[in-house]
Amino acid sequence: MATPAPSDSIASSPDSPDEQPRFALNRREWLAGSAALLGLASVGSVAGLPTTGAAGDAADSTRQQQYDLRELGDGLYFLSDGLYQIMFLVTDEGVVVVDAPPSLVASIFPAVAEVTDQPITHLVYSHYHADHIGGASLFGDEVEIVAHEETDRLLSQFDDPQRPAPTTTFVGSYNLGIGGQQLDLDYRGPNHTPDNLFIYAPDHAVLMLVDVIFPGWIPFKALAVSQNIHGYVEAHEEALRYDFDTLVAGHLGEPGTREDVETQLEFVTDLRANSAAAIESVDFQAVAQEVGSNNPWELFDAYLNALTEEAASATLETWEDRLQGADVFMESHAETMIEALRVDYGMLGPFGPPESVDGT
Ligand SMILES: [Zn+2]
Repeated sequence: MATPAPSDSIASSPDSPDEQPRFALNRREWLAGSAALLGLASVGSVAGLPTTGAAGDAADSTRQQQYDLRELGDGLYFLSDGLYQIMFLVTDEGVVVVDAPPSLVASIFPAVAEVTDQPITHLVYSHYHADHIGGASLFGDEVEIVAHEETDRLLSQFDDPQRPAPTTTFVGSYNLGIGGQQLDLDYRGPNHTPDNLFIYAPDHAVLMLVDVIFPGWIPFKALAVSQNIHGYVEAHEEALRYDFDTLVAGHLGEPGTREDVETQLEFVTDLRANSAAAIESVDFQAVAQEVGSNNPWELFDAYLNALTEEAASATLETWEDRLQGADVFMESHAETMIEALRVDYGMLGPFGPPESVDGT
């Protein structure tokens, strides 16, 4: 079993983040993070549990050396492997961990042990997705798992032993006051998923909202694979109603700020406007004539592609220099927004109802 190195030798971020663009994950960090992910897939061992053989020890050691641990304020810590991020709160009566990504879970135990002798007593699920809580079973039976009732319901569909059912559920909000510390868990309706929570540390001015904001970067593809696009856009406004300075967003290697939320709100608003403009301006008949096919799927595919191309190129023009990775996922964002505008918002363009019909 490898011994965790002290934090000052393993922090993967520069001491002065301002010295380089804050969104630029450098190549060394990126490769280290990727190696950590590969290590998990091939070894499957975690800190605190026995490993088998030298190869396992070596890979385990590599994994444990990838994390970046920072204190965000009195007893509240940010932990990241460059791709995933969580936070944990040290109290006088135990440690509350929020989320357990499989790629990061082996680092959570040594990271907590670095800063406190207190045991981990609580695990909070931000939402039901396996990539954020799929390491939960490794916390053992003694840990109290707190989640929204909707998360419990969604998890019950899959019967996944890696994501044990919560032991404490709630509707609305839940105030987790423990050992002199405070964490507010707020349900504000569906966004990225039907159950995604706003997790707020009021005394630290820290908000955790996972898979919505991507500080410095374009959102992950298809508007972060969100199941409710209207709710996803609204979640930006909801986040800004909290009094916070630091955002723990679930992905990448840096915590975010209010400005990151404002910037991404500007981006999704721009994307929505450009998508609506494309629906208004692209002429279906002209596309149909050009395609020259009687296959309705082929015609519709060409039409939707024309909408996507127009909205994506208009949005990219503004955002390619403002958010990292803008060119990578822009078409998927435009496609997702256009479909939401059509069927959720009712902006059907040439397929909307006529202004009047005979007999009315
Ligand atoms: Zn998710």
